Amino acid sequence: MPVRPRKSLGQNFLIDKNILRKIIASCGLTPSDVVLEIGAGRGELTRLVAGKVRKVYALEIDRSLCGILEKNLSDNTNIEIINQDILKFNLEKYLDEAKAKVIGNIPYYISSPILEHLIKFRKRIDTIFLTVQKEFAKRIVAKEDSRDYGSFSCFIQYYTLSESLFFIKNTCFVPPPKVDSCFLRLKVREEPAVRVADEKAFFRIIRSAFNKRRKTLRNSLNGVLPRHKLDAFFEKYGVDANARPERLSLQDFANLANI
Ligand code: SAM
Repeated sequence: MPVRPRKSLGQNFLIDKNILRKIIASCGLTPSDVVLEIGAGRGELTRLVAGKVRKVYALEIDRSLCGILEKNLSDNTNIEIINQDILKFNLEKYLDEAKAKVIGNIPYYISSPILEHLIKFRKRIDTIFLTVQKEFAKRIVAKEDSRDYGSFSCFIQYYTLSESLFFIKNTCFVPPPKVDSCFLRLKVREEPAVRVADEKAFFRIIRSAFNKRRKTLRNSLNGVLPRHKLDAFFEKYGVDANARPERLSLQDFANLANI
């Protein structure tokens, strides 16, 4: 009996065969790859991925969908279905050999926590491929001087090389979500994008700057750094103290944190 999609779990199933093919082609999968799929749903993507790689760990939080996955994918011996919440999933327990590829058409309401969780396990990950809400994708790949650029763009771009590969119309899903989507590729960097002496301070400065993004840099960073350090930064790097925080690139924030 078909299972009714649960809105509370972000269950919008991707049914467009062209998009499924395009996703598979974009992931560059090889027979030695190990893949973690987040939110396997009814297993359409899982089956295609499994045909290309050595092993798929298919994570699904919904127990009733896990039953369907077991049934639908029983002829694939390289798929392990795991009934777990990705946010509580210890990747190290499963991905202990070569670095894995992570693939997921993820629930939109927990996109940020999922990415934060994956970044914690970045040493075990080669590349993350995600279908996310279009607006969220814009924030991930945004560069300085744009409206979508913010602390989350900096966080993700510090650890990954992020690209938006293609757009997916909402009608490609059942039931169709209210918003369109994008398919993202986040290649985990061997080394972070910029050198910082103290990562905690670096991210604290970035968050503080964007918390007051309408203010000038001098005002938004007031209290975060001593005045003389701020002045030294403005002078040394020729940055206008009256500019808005979105003018600063990742390298600028690193210079600011390192000063
Ligand atoms: N992969 C399928 C597809 O492309 O059609 C399903 C995608 S659907 C947008 C998201 C899936 O993630 C759902 O099957 C949902 O039950 C599952 N899910 C939701 N929250 C989850 C969580 N915290 N951990 C693991 N899976 C979750």
